[in-house]
Parts: sequence; C-alpha cells; structure tokens
Amino acid sequence: MFHRTETRPVKVGNIQIGGNDQVVIQSMTTTKTHDVKATVEEINRLAEAGCQIVRIAVPDMRAAEAIPLIKKEVNVPLVADIHFDYKLALKAIEGGIDKIRINPGNIGRREKVEAVVKAAKERGIPIRIGVNAGSLEKRILEKYGYPTAEGMVESALYHIGILEELDFHDIVVSLKASDVRLAIEAYKKAAETFRYPLHLGITESGTLFSGTVKSAAGLGALLAMGIGSTIRISLSADPVEEVKVARELLKAFGLAANAATLISCPTCGRIEIDLISIANEIEEYISKIQAPIKVSVLGCAVNGPGEAKEADIGIAGARGEGLLFRHGKIIRKIPEEKMVEELKKEIDKLAEEYRKQ
Ligand code: SF4
Repeated sequence: MFHRTETRPVKVGNIQIGGNDQVVIQSMTTTKTHDVKATVEEINRLAEAGCQIVRIAVPDMRAAEAIPLIKKEVNVPLVADIHFDYKLALKAIEGGIDKIRINPGNIGRREKVEAVVKAAKERGIPIRIGVNAGSLEKRILEKYGYPTAEGMVESALYHIGILEELDFHDIVVSLKASDVRLAIEAYKKAAETFRYPLHLGITESGTLFSGTVKSAAGLGALLAMGIGSTIRISLSADPVEEVKVARELLKAFGLAANAATLISCPTCGRIEIDLISIANEIEEYISKIQAPIKVSVLGCAVNGPGEAKEADIGIAGARGEGLLFRHGKIIRKIPEEKMVEELKKEIDKLAEEYRKQ
C-alpha cells in the first residue's frame, strides 16, 4: 500500500496536491481560450460541479493573453497547458496562472528552460510534467521498442532531472496511457521511484460510457493502492461529466469530502414505483449537496429498508405511496406524487443539520 501523505505537497493557488490523503479533482475546458466569455462560463460550470482545478489549453499568444482576463472572473485555480513554446509559458505565468503543464525537456535551449523555471519559482507556481505513452522520446522508444512502464518512468525522470538540476521541486507528474494496464503499471512504478505527487488519468479513454468504465477500472485500481493525489477523467463528452465521474469514483473510495451518496436498488419484479427516473432525479439533486449523507431509493418495501440500513434517509416504494425511512426505520408514509419532493426536503434538512454540527 502506498500513502499519498508521503508525497511532496505542492500548492496550486489555494489547493494542495500531495502531502495529504486528499485527491483533487481536475478537468479541462473545451472552449477556445481566447474566447474569454465562453471559457469563463465553462470554468464556472466545472467549479460548480465540484472541479477544484481547471486546465485551459494555451496553444497561442491570443490564449496566453486571455489568462489575466479569465483569472479576474473565476475563483478556481487554473493550469495552462503548453507544448514546447517557452514564450507562452512566460506569458501565462506573467498573466497569473496557478500552474503550468509543460515538459522541460521539450522546451529547447537551456536558457529558455531556465527562464521558465525562474519565472515559475518567483511566483511559486508548480510545473506538471506530462508523460504520455503515445509521445515518448524517440531514444526511449528505440531502447524499449514500444511504450512500456519502464520507458514512461524513464521519460518522467528525464524531465524531473532537468527541473531538479535548476533546484526546482514543485513538480507534479502524470504518466498517461490509453491502455489501462500500461497506465496502472507506469503509475505504480512511478510511485515506487519518486515522491512527487501523481496526477492520474487514462488518456483518450473514450465516450461517456466507455471512458467512464475504463477510467474507473484504471484509476480505481490505483486509488485502491493509495496512489494518486489528483485525477482527471478524460471523456469525449461535456467536461462537467468528467467531474461527475471523478466525484463518484472518489466517493467509492471514501476520498470525496462532504459528498452525498446514492444507494438505489437494481429493480426487479417486485417494483412498485418508477424507480429509475426517481433515482436519476435524486442523484442529480444530491450532486450539489455538500454533506456526507447517504440517500437510498428502493423499488419496494419487501427488502427495501432493511437493504439500506446504512442510509441516513431513503424511500421505498409501496402501492401508490412511498415509505420514508431513516437508518432502516420507517418514519412516515408519503403519497407517490409527493415522494420526490418530500425526500428532497428531508435531504436538505439533513444537510443543514450537518452544516450546524
Ligand atoms: Fe426488487 Fe424491492 Fe430489492 Fe428493488 S428493493 S431489487 S424492487 S426486492
């Protein structure tokens, strides 16, 4: 078992990555960064969904110049995603970015690398090294023949070495691959090799459905080993979905602070209510509740309350009505048409009680 607490803490704005047991949720905007209005809107939507750090693409000077304008409108820390161009990195740092994602080995001449590292150091900004199985250095690929976990860690160590030589240590590392087993192996090897916090991700994982399954499989295995201080779920979907999946995944490992959880039955021939739509509505409702409460929605009362004893609040369907229960005990009956409304009220009450504690 690895321990996230043993990684070096790195600050990104007011958020800490590593050095504790938290796992920070990240996502990335899909807008053109120079379109300030659209980018701000998307960042705020992501933050509202629970995203703690947002990455924006900085492919050109127009995007880099938009950073101060975007920063003024948002509260969540921002990461600039930059490939190769040190001038963009300097502009992003000057514009108040909270972290940059750039591989120092790809910047070019030493003076350019030194300029970026110096600027990042002066502003206290960390650098994420992003190793990707699909774009390993030629010499590493030649050495191993194809992308391997050893090769990926070797690539990470190469970029880390450049930063360490310049006495820069506020480093976060990702080792992404679209192959789940390769990603798991690479992250495991990295956790054994160095103490910089790891940013987990399965890259190009697919659509909302397949990408969720692949990410949960890969990142779930790593989280269960105690690896990973920040995660990004990559989906070909609205990035808000990435945040929802990340939150759900962290909840499964007890790593999401103040998040409400839904327990719902798989339904069977005993079902007495339209459980699927109720469960979906309640899931959406509790996604914004900031309290560690468990809500249960069950199709019938046969096994219902007993099946969800650990729930703080829940309903079980009965003919034409719902049974509201707390910790497995029925507290009252509610007519079917008022079931969802009443359950929401009870959830709010519980969340309020939690806030006052
Ligand atoms: Fe079937 Fe009732 Fe169990 Fe749901 S709670 S799966 S409806 S027995």
